[in-house]
Amino acid sequence: MDKILRINMGADGGPAIKTQPVGDYAGFGGRGLTSAIVSKEVPPLCHPLGEDNKLVIAPGMLSGSTAAMSGRISVGCKSPLTGGIKEANAGGQASQVLARLGYAAIVLEGLPQNDTLYKILINKDGVEITDASNLKGLGNYDTVDKIKAEHGKKVACISIGQAGEMKMAAASVACTDMEQRPTRHAGRGGVGAVMGSKGVKVIVLDDAGMKMRQPKDPDKFKEANKAWVAGLKKHALTGESLPKYGTNVLTNVINEAGAYPTNNFLKGQFEGASNISGETQAELEDARGGKGSSTHGCHRGCVIRCSGTFYDKNGQYVTKQPEYETVWAHGANCGIDDLDVIAQLDRMDDDFGLDTIEMGGAIAVAMEAGLAEFGDAQAAINLVTEVGKGTPLGRILGSGAAVTGKAYGIERVPVVKGQSMPAYDPRTVQGIGVTYATTPMGADHTSGYSVTANILDVGGTVDPLKPEGQIELARNLQIATAILTDSTGMCLFIAFAILDQADTFDALVDLLNAFSGQSLTGDDLVEQGKTILKMERDFNFRAGFTEKDDRLPEYFKKEKLPPHNVTFEVTDEDLDQVHNW
Ligand code: SF4
Repeated sequence: MDKILRINMGADGGPAIKTQPVGDYAGFGGRGLTSAIVSKEVPPLCHPLGEDNKLVIAPGMLSGSTAAMSGRISVGCKSPLTGGIKEANAGGQASQVLARLGYAAIVLEGLPQNDTLYKILINKDGVEITDASNLKGLGNYDTVDKIKAEHGKKVACISIGQAGEMKMAAASVACTDMEQRPTRHAGRGGVGAVMGSKGVKVIVLDDAGMKMRQPKDPDKFKEANKAWVAGLKKHALTGESLPKYGTNVLTNVINEAGAYPTNNFLKGQFEGASNISGETQAELEDARGGKGSSTHGCHRGCVIRCSGTFYDKNGQYVTKQPEYETVWAHGANCGIDDLDVIAQLDRMDDDFGLDTIEMGGAIAVAMEAGLAEFGDAQAAINLVTEVGKGTPLGRILGSGAAVTGKAYGIERVPVVKGQSMPAYDPRTVQGIGVTYATTPMGADHTSGYSVTANILDVGGTVDPLKPEGQIELARNLQIATAILTDSTGMCLFIAFAILDQADTFDALVDLLNAFSGQSLTGDDLVEQGKTILKMERDFNFRAGFTEKDDRLPEYFKKEKLPPHNVTFEVTDEDLDQVHNW
């Protein structure tokens, strides 16, 4: 991973390819690298769909090696949804394959001079860019099927569906999983719209003939990886719950805590929660059987294995096992308690190339506006169908919850910096409210997952209903996440084990040092995390954001959430201290 591939999509005579050394960007990976390139090279005031924005795709620092869990890929740009800097990451095979091909990042620049759609093929022989008109208007599933027919069953794909082609602000970038299905999405912030604006339908990655990336100190690396895997396996969440039930194991837990946003964040408990819980989902999947119905990894090298496969009543494949956030977004948040419907919506989102959180948020706002009743499953399917077709209504919904709220005159729109809140109500999990408000990414639970200490008693305990201790919690988690998961290529779920088990944290540091030949300490990594956050906030300030954008919508301070009847109590003055370290 010593080179950066730059493709100027707007060059005279068609896309121009340039490969250059990583240079000043050495030492960065994943989110660190996407944010470093965007903050240095993208004019903060540019239009996100214009020629000056860049789409940066970067594997994590450990991706492409044998380090367990290291297969996350970061996609960064100026976001069409938030107007600020964006990094969204995804699992699947793409990160490992791109890293093995030797690229620290792909940077798509400029705008095509006409409406030609392109395919980019990257293999051991180099890079080839060809016309992909035959893929125009296709969903991600059909796109990948055509690529498989042409390039075989071992390549990995990074693609967009119709939503990306239509440059919708809720459009995602899809990555193929181990079964070569486009089920793993860099979902947030409209990164798919930026890929669409660059005229790129699909990037095909073929690492045939390439080797695993080798550590600088193989013996130390092997030893550290062994301790790393053992640590992940011994923690109750990463070793038992997630492998058994997938991420949807959280539904009952968060619902019990009164923090499960229901009917567009109107209440904190959903009567139908048990119908869509991870336990029910696992039972259903076991009963229906089929290959992959038990959990497995979304990429090779995952040892937590929280992923699964969802089949319909007739045993036909529908989608991957819907994640907790998706089950909530299309379920409780819209008052729907039918796993088959939720799976169908998940499949539609994956195919059109849409962020499931943003779509669930937009549909819930549309329901609040009276376009449909909460709980009306068919109406939800119809609304997502509109998005895929690109009708005027579909384009409003596909622009996200904030635009939908504006279009229909709704005050109760749960967004920060224009991005939909995920599946934890900030009034009952006040630490996650601090993260939603203050992360440079817009409302994003993965930027600083305070649910750990607020609800799960992981990494300590902080009362979720009170403001005390939330600033420090969200600050520390945001710093740690920026470097330890989002930059290394590690899946977020490792956080449970490294927060609770000092020896597992040490194993991760050893893994990084053995791989890179450095002698970094935990403190050095904290400084790197701060550097990444500083770059991102600096970009946002230059793009016109102020501290006043680090706030939740006003109604979270006024409207009490049942059953605990609490409001968001963290003061604005305290929110302004999160990044003041
Ligand atoms: S734990 Fe789940 S999301 Fe994370 S890498 Fe494994 S399968 Fe993918």
